[in-house]
Amino acid sequence: MLALHELTQTDDFIRRHVGPGAQEQSEMLSALALPSLEALIEQTVPAGIRLPAPMAIGESQSEAQALSALKAIASKNDIYRSYIGMGYYGTHTPNVILRNVLENPGWYTAYTPYQPEIAQGRLEALLNFQQMTMDLTGLDLANASLLDEATAAAEAMAMAKRVSKNKKSNLFFIADDTHPQTIDVICQRAEFFGFETIIGKPEQLAELDVFGALLQYPGTTGEVRDLTPFIDRVHACKGIVAVASDLMALVALKAPGEMGADIVLGSSQRFGVPMGYGGPHAAFFATRDAFKRSMPGRIIGVSKDRRGKAALRMALQTREQHIRREKANSNICTAQVLLANMASFYAVFHGPEGLSCIAERIHRMAAIMAAAAVQKGVTLRHAQFFDTLTLTGLDKNAVLARAQAARINLRADLDNAIAISLDETTTEADLALLLTVLFGELHGLDIHQLDTQVQAEDTGVNDALRRQSAILTHPVFHLYRSETEVLRYIRRLEGRDLSLNHSMIALGSCTMKLNATAEMIPISWPEFANLHPFCPAAQAQGYHELIQLLEQWLVTITGYDAVCMQPNSGAQGEYAGLLAIRHYQASQGETQRNICLIPSSAHGTNPASAHMAGLEVVVVSCDKAGNIDVEELRAKAQQHSEQLSCLMVTYPSTHGVYEQPIAEICDIIHQYGGQVYLDGANMNAQVGLTSPGFIGADVSHLNLHKTFAIPHGGGGPGMGPIGVKQHLAPFVPGHVVVKGKSTQGAVSAAPFGSASILPISWMYIAMLGGKGLRRASEVAILNANYVEQRLSGHYPVLYTGNNGRVAHECIIDLRPLKESSGISELDIAKRLNDYGFHAPTMSFPVAGTLMVEPTESESKAELDRFIDAMISIRLEIAKVEAGEWPLADNPLVNAPHTLDDMLDADWTHPYDRHVAAYPAPAVRSNKFWPFVNRIDDVYGDRNLFCSCLPMSAYEDE
Ligand SMILES: *Cc1c(COP(=O)(O)O)cnc(C)c1O
Repeated sequence: MLALHELTQTDDFIRRHVGPGAQEQSEMLSALALPSLEALIEQTVPAGIRLPAPMAIGESQSEAQALSALKAIASKNDIYRSYIGMGYYGTHTPNVILRNVLENPGWYTAYTPYQPEIAQGRLEALLNFQQMTMDLTGLDLANASLLDEATAAAEAMAMAKRVSKNKKSNLFFIADDTHPQTIDVICQRAEFFGFETIIGKPEQLAELDVFGALLQYPGTTGEVRDLTPFIDRVHACKGIVAVASDLMALVALKAPGEMGADIVLGSSQRFGVPMGYGGPHAAFFATRDAFKRSMPGRIIGVSKDRRGKAALRMALQTREQHIRREKANSNICTAQVLLANMASFYAVFHGPEGLSCIAERIHRMAAIMAAAAVQKGVTLRHAQFFDTLTLTGLDKNAVLARAQAARINLRADLDNAIAISLDETTTEADLALLLTVLFGELHGLDIHQLDTQVQAEDTGVNDALRRQSAILTHPVFHLYRSETEVLRYIRRLEGRDLSLNHSMIALGSCTMKLNATAEMIPISWPEFANLHPFCPAAQAQGYHELIQLLEQWLVTITGYDAVCMQPNSGAQGEYAGLLAIRHYQASQGETQRNICLIPSSAHGTNPASAHMAGLEVVVVSCDKAGNIDVEELRAKAQQHSEQLSCLMVTYPSTHGVYEQPIAEICDIIHQYGGQVYLDGANMNAQVGLTSPGFIGADVSHLNLHKTFAIPHGGGGPGMGPIGVKQHLAPFVPGHVVVKGKSTQGAVSAAPFGSASILPISWMYIAMLGGKGLRRASEVAILNANYVEQRLSGHYPVLYTGNNGRVAHECIIDLRPLKESSGISELDIAKRLNDYGFHAPTMSFPVAGTLMVEPTESESKAELDRFIDAMISIRLEIAKVEAGEWPLADNPLVNAPHTLDDMLDADWTHPYDRHVAAYPAPAVRSNKFWPFVNRIDDVYGDRNLFCSCLPMSAYEDE
């Protein structure tokens, strides 16, 4: 018998996170003719960069242990009622959305909808998000989310420069009543774009010649006013006007689009997404039709499938970084899809009447508070407002002391004034409490009397500024009002999407690993969900402890000296890291260093980020084996040594191999005075085995939404913290509102980016421990090599490294097959859907290929199903090659097959229905039906249509 302490499942989580068990691992190792995992690692990771000792991360904790440790940390957050505003407001997440979207792996484990036939659900939810944005902003076209309000404003500035006809001006105006964090981010962004900025009162525009201006409506201190004269003035000098706004205010107020604004942006947070100490939240961004090709971010458009059925897809992809690289509209890749979906379902859930009621109620309470202030002889800074009042002439210290005693946060950073922002969660009791906090006692104040008075006087905002136009007239915002209907609508859309809870998603460079439920649970804890990012530090001690612990772990894992948590995507991390390099070089008197070497195989965000940091991109080629051409690199580094700023390199390379001379590459760059930016997207092949700091790099971003288990969310959220060596530490982003060690400008709206998803990565590291993290990397490499081994007999594998091994992913070259059969990588990608799989990464980093990254989380059984599908597809291609099936009519070019196909009265194809829909035995018990047939991309871009379908489309359904 075992002793009590032996009756525990040690390393339980490691075994659950790592797909293949001991038996499966040894079978895979035998297939590779290897005695052990260690032997595989020796053959793959170059000896010179292998870590000499295990990482000091600690033991793995069980789910229960880690959850209770994290709960103890979370409980150090002290939740006050926050009326701080500044872009973050209390909101009620409808529970049907909380449980069925935010907490539902069907929604949160999906990938960015690059394969639209198996992503129609989230594409529809995003189209609804766009429609809602268009209706509320009064503009023609909206995108499917940006990272946050401040970065959206910075994107608006860059877009204004692109489209403004005022080519002589280099000046961008920012209204001084814009949220301070937005101003901070814009000014930082302007620095390396080389724009001048001026912060002032909109009246000053009369004397200025600008290419663009940002106004805020309502202003940060609450003022609502007609922007038309300022917009007209900017238009008179051919400038572009962007308006930062608030969706809830826009429910009640005249749309900025109706005042002539060219761009309207803001945060959709208060549409049901918790404040989460700063994020993640989806920014919205709308513009005029004329500027559609210049808009940043992804746009969902309506096209048709091959049966003529309406089908959704990401439109105008050619504007993006994957294609345009340093000429792209922005570097945004991962956005905020999950949160945009939540906001769009919030609008569907409430509908226009529900939203109007919420907005009117918030406004009424603000008006009552304003009337109370007048009665008490307190001055209102602005006569017209929506939800935010700024009061002067109070005893500020006394008010703040009463607020503290009542566990209430007010906005206190304004000179001699206090501001209060009310929200959906504010009750009459809260209002009464607020009145006592503000005025010392309720004596003489009766909320019902004040209500009657406010109604009679119709105060708050004058009629000209009230919304007259209808919102959300589209059927989708009217059809689902009962919870049953909403639940089924969410479920119906979920069922159109293939997510990780159906089958593996072997996307190279994206690391679609397990997002364990225990990792996800803490994000909905109120201690993490309900903190305002600008609350006093004393209330956020739990967050600070979490962030500090996670930073320490990441410092250990990366081999760097410091980690900064601000960037909220990988691409933002790249930008922040490059800024750190530039600011460091400037501090050394080397402002002339403006050249960035980038290998030709780099991810599109690298050149796009370099461009944003004011760097000139010089491309370094790769040799036939896919490795960086070291001699060319040396020559270019030498040639540009005076001006060399940095190298951006991905390791293991985007080609999926551990390049031998990586340490030498770092040395070359340093020798010529440059810095090494190592793109950390492929950290999953490094953790515990080697590290960027150990290799010799200076700065990296980590995609916590790849390696560190944050789910992909269907295209976001993500987190892209950067690790830096000591000399760069003073140059990481700072924050104007929440001051920390760094005094630099900000790159995100919130000081710690999307703080509320950090518990996911914390849980991941805590539960795996040092040993499990290393094991995860080893098995990720094992799985990739097993796939490579089994597929290489059927398809050529493009690149291998040492000893014929790959790293954690491998590229299958389909170009020869296309030559011989006419079947393309796209046909294979779509045919995989019939087998129940999402396609691997297509045509990146090499056109005409698929890049497979299985991750450690996939069991051998699942890998075998995938490999068998790929082999079966190869046999199908052989039939096309042999002329058995014509190129124009075979299961590959007709893929994916839908139920509609199956129900066709006459089936005319040279293969039968079973071959079409049940191509492998395993499919019968787990069939995924693509909701639409193959989508016509060209039609969609030629006939751009980015709003919800008209009622007639529903009637057809
Ligand atoms: C995913 C990825 C990025 C960008 O990360 P986002 O979070 O999508 O912005 C950058 N580089 C590489 C190699 C990547 O795979």
